[in-house]
Amino acid sequence: MKRIVIKFGGTSVGSIEKIVNAAKIVQKRQEEGNEVMVVVSAMSGTTNDLVNKSKKISKNFNKPELDVLMSSGEQVSCSLLAGAIIELGLKARSWMGWQIPILTEGDHASSRILEVKTNEVINFLSEGGIPVIAGFQGITEENRISTIGRGGSDTSALMIAKFFKTDSCEIYTDVEGIYTTDPFINSKAKKIEKISYEEMLEMSSLGAKVMQPSAVQTAMKNNIPVHVRSTFSKLTGTFIVSEDKTDSKKVVTGITYSKNDAKVTLLNVKDKPGVAADIFEPLGKSNINVDMVVQNISSDEKETDITFTVKREDLSKTLKIIENNRVNVDYKKLIHDDKLSKVSIIGAGMIVHPGVTYKMFRALANERINILVISTSEIKISVLIDENVTQKAVKVLHKTFELD
Ligand code: ADP
Ligand code: ASP
Ligand code: MG
Repeated sequence: MKRIVIKFGGTSVGSIEKIVNAAKIVQKRQEEGNEVMVVVSAMSGTTNDLVNKSKKISKNFNKPELDVLMSSGEQVSCSLLAGAIIELGLKARSWMGWQIPILTEGDHASSRILEVKTNEVINFLSEGGIPVIAGFQGITEENRISTIGRGGSDTSALMIAKFFKTDSCEIYTDVEGIYTTDPFINSKAKKIEKISYEEMLEMSSLGAKVMQPSAVQTAMKNNIPVHVRSTFSKLTGTFIVSEDKTDSKKVVTGITYSKNDAKVTLLNVKDKPGVAADIFEPLGKSNINVDMVVQNISSDEKETDITFTVKREDLSKTLKIIENNRVNVDYKKLIHDDKLSKVSIIGAGMIVHPGVTYKMFRALANERINILVISTSEIKISVLIDENVTQKAVKVLHKTFELD
């Protein structure tokens, strides 16, 4: 008998009918001879509604209380799904994060799962029970409820897979699998049969919200096979597996976009050793992640311009820090822009195929799309462009790299 964990996303449990449908999927997977564990997200829209309520009280709503509030959505869906499974004549019960417990560390609203205790749930499984576990939430060492970042129930499912040593993890969602690009912005997107952990990690980190990046990381580290599939069709979805099990002949596997970035430029800073460190040290100490960085070559070797990107939500904090640090790093002008999007092409095939970079830039140039910043790694190239031409860029790249 195989032990599997199946996770339902928000849209998969977005109404009572959908919850009943999810319960039937659970029943079917058990009838097929599996020992089934279930992880569930809040009903779609619920978490956003809860966050908006907190914002009406304060923009800086107390973080531990925000976690209590946000995590409540999963309590609702978890009990409804457990009840629906019981209604089908099966043995099931709900577990909140604190009951298991799922232990977390780090800041509220962006905690990390340290450990998932297994004793009680294992007993229940051995009695033929189906545990239905609330995703997204855990409990801190201080006995406070925590959450693990938006979209976090993917990671909850993979952590359950790790600690309960399940044979696989199935992510049930509103699309039929991982596509070559977001099917909602390009109707020519194609379902990918198999994708490597490495490529999927880049895709999700660069904007494909179909899986949370740390979920992919957990799967990769622990070699857990993941099947991303639709709650609303019986078709096979996408398998996320190790590199040697993929057989893609394509140079580029997928294209992503994200609108989370903001660009900051310091004009005319002194071109001397240590200046970059002096700019980025106070940002790092304030937990601001700098992503892309470009330093222009200075023509007179005296002054240069430095451009970098941060998350949009960190922009105002970043500008304040740089202004306050002017005694250490002076500049003529500080400029910023957040009406931008980052478009990326991802593919392990790039390692052995030269010429991908120029092909990408040429395709964008032909569409008169201006590239503001570029960053690359072995298996991805990202460009920062005007937010208004995102869809156009995704479409032309999708065609250029023969994914249509
Ligand atoms: P869930 O509620 O199941 O967690 P999400 O909304 O978090 O679902 O993720 C699924 C969504 O991810 C899809 O509806 C789709 O719009 C989006 N998405 C973005 N990029 C991709 C991609 N490359 N393949 C599939 N879906 C994608
Ligand atoms: N309900 C949470 C969110 O909306 C977690 C999740 O859906 O994975 O972010
Ligand atoms: Mg999700």
